[in-house]
Amino acid sequence: MSWEKRLIARHSPSDRIDAAIDMLFRKQRRDWQLLRENEATLAGARVRRLVDGPDSVIAQENPGRHGSVSAKVDTASVASRPCFLCEHNLPEQERAIGFGSDLFLLPNPYPIVPQHISIPSRAHEAQAIDGRLPDFLALSKAIGGEHLAIYNGPRCGASAPDHFHFQTGHIPHPPIETAIERGRSKGRWTAVDSLGRRAVVLRTPDADEAERKLRLAIKELATINDSDDEPMLNLLGRYRGDAYEVFFFPRDRHRPDCYFAESEERLLVSPGAMEMAGVVVLPHARDFERIDAGQVREIFDQVTLDKDRFEEWWGELR
Ligand SMILES: [Zn+2]
Repeated sequence: MSWEKRLIARHSPSDRIDAAIDMLFRKQRRDWQLLRENEATLAGARVRRLVDGPDSVIAQENPGRHGSVSAKVDTASVASRPCFLCEHNLPEQERAIGFGSDLFLLPNPYPIVPQHISIPSRAHEAQAIDGRLPDFLALSKAIGGEHLAIYNGPRCGASAPDHFHFQTGHIPHPPIETAIERGRSKGRWTAVDSLGRRAVVLRTPDADEAERKLRLAIKELATINDSDDEPMLNLLGRYRGDAYEVFFFPRDRHRPDCYFAESEERLLVSPGAMEMAGVVVLPHARDFERIDAGQVREIFDQVTLDKDRFEEWWGELR
């Protein structure tokens, strides 16, 4: 089946698409049993709010994410499996909304949040933010104020580093947002420190300015890391009160020590943008039942850019 046959709607980047997303899910719930069943499972999933002072995260038991959380994302493993974002490997029942020149919104049949969507490019091309910031900002605005646009870097959360994709989902109040008001502000930027996560938030009504500032921030982060590669980062974008709001999480590592620990100590948690936003996915019941806020802080601290380099980077942001 071609992309064109899967399309139920096509939108330009300046359109609002929240109504089209509702329509896509209504249709797919009717026609696609796997999605219907997994949405029902998510609705009944156990959650716990882990609180530490003014900060909190939501721990979620989600066995359906085991494959993704434990996915091998090294080059050899990725090269040896069929790409699940290429059109010819998608489930027959899956339908899409076209967005812009080459992006397709597809319901994620293993959701973490309601209306969880994968947004691959038409071509099988590597995950990279370079040249994609205008798409990211357009998507952030198009999905309406209650959804978040998501970008996971190829080495820190993307389960398909070989095929470009964004995600989105219905997350009206990501737990990280309460940290903004306690942050340090400088011009359009705010630095936040919450449960071991050091991050910055950009807020501006102007898409061109947002793109320029994000591009420079990425470049400065690469300079501080002394690397020409894309620095490890997760982005979350939304549009509220007539302004773009982008959460930028600079990363040091993909997975924390506990992911690799032996037996008793092991916690299967693999932080991507969802986790950084405050939704911590745990495929195993045992991990879900025992994880606490102190462990979450340790996990976030290990995978986030360290304090010294964060302060250096913050000093360079304009
Ligand atoms: Zn592909």
